[in-house]
Amino acid sequence: MIESYADGGFRSVGQPTARRIVRQGVERKRMGRTLLIHGPSGAGKDRFVDDLLALFFCADPDTTVRPCNACRGCRDGRARSHPDLVIGSPEGWREQKSSSESIVASARRWLLEAAGAPVVAERRVLLIEHADRAGEQIQNALLKALEEPTDRHAFILVADEPSGLLPTIRSRCQPLRIGPVAREELVAYLMDVVRLPADQADAVARLSNGLVGTAVALVEQKGLLDWRRRVQGELLALLERGRADRFVSVRDLLDDTLPLVTPMAAEGETEDDAPRTPASSQRAAAVMLVDAWLALTRDLLVTAAGRVELAPGTELGLHLAAAAARIGTEPLARMAHLLERIHDGLRENAAPRLALEAAMLTWPTLAPRRDS
Ligand SMILES: [Zn+2]
Repeated sequence: MIESYADGGFRSVGQPTARRIVRQGVERKRMGRTLLIHGPSGAGKDRFVDDLLALFFCADPDTTVRPCNACRGCRDGRARSHPDLVIGSPEGWREQKSSSESIVASARRWLLEAAGAPVVAERRVLLIEHADRAGEQIQNALLKALEEPTDRHAFILVADEPSGLLPTIRSRCQPLRIGPVAREELVAYLMDVVRLPADQADAVARLSNGLVGTAVALVEQKGLLDWRRRVQGELLALLERGRADRFVSVRDLLDDTLPLVTPMAAEGETEDDAPRTPASSQRAAAVMLVDAWLALTRDLLVTAAGRVELAPGTELGLHLAAAAARIGTEPLARMAHLLERIHDGLRENAAPRLALEAAMLTWPTLAPRRDS
């Protein structure tokens, strides 16, 4: 099973195209001088960069077995402590700037210092994280460095959004896209490496839309699976409740979600000294709620459509089957469609509370069951 995500010394998940390109580069000793690792936030770019650094610094004479993961070069590369590795980022340049210095000057100084000769390896690696968040002046300075011919330096740029880079920088890069991986592959990874039980691995894989970094962050963020169970249980219970209860519940659910999203959402900040506003935290919480709600609605829908085997085998399963049978497919399909629209709307600044209340009004209503 291990082979499905790890092969030939790589420890990241999936990304066969990116792997093939860098492996061929190493074997033919023609690795591009500037690599651009890009893909959505949470896709696992950092894990791929770890592999890449091991590959760059591996000292095994047989290039076909690199990264060997046994030599010092591999270990130091993965630990990001190799003497020939220099790491920069807009956040770092801001932190390192002296009080009289601009962030642009700080970045220029970094580039100058990084331009020294390699100590141990054949090449020095300049790793620039969040390159797409660097301002235009910094990017121009970077462009100058990229234009200077040297085979003793290699650049690895990491970006969520390549469109945030100057076209002149992009055109000098070998782009490697890190995207979502197949669900089975992610489930296998979560079970074998992260040691999650099967049903939780499945839940996390669904929730993270195939994005490995997101999946691992979800697991590390303790309480997330419990939160999801709680939210979905509450939503099922609300099927039998009226409008007043539902609106109270929107407020409670948001309050319950806020502590979970705030640290995660902070990663997306461009200005690290700007505090996250309550409004954007609320929106991030609402997006998370809608995600969990949409997953529940889809599970109900496949169950109502008689395809129970597609629904998750969780403890919610029994309640889910009973509710699905009473609602039927049509209202659930409508609900799923509405939640998808609300999800998009929240990304474009819709008011979180109002959006969730609108969803509550469309969430089907069932007469309370008279259990004997
Ligand atoms: Zn090695």
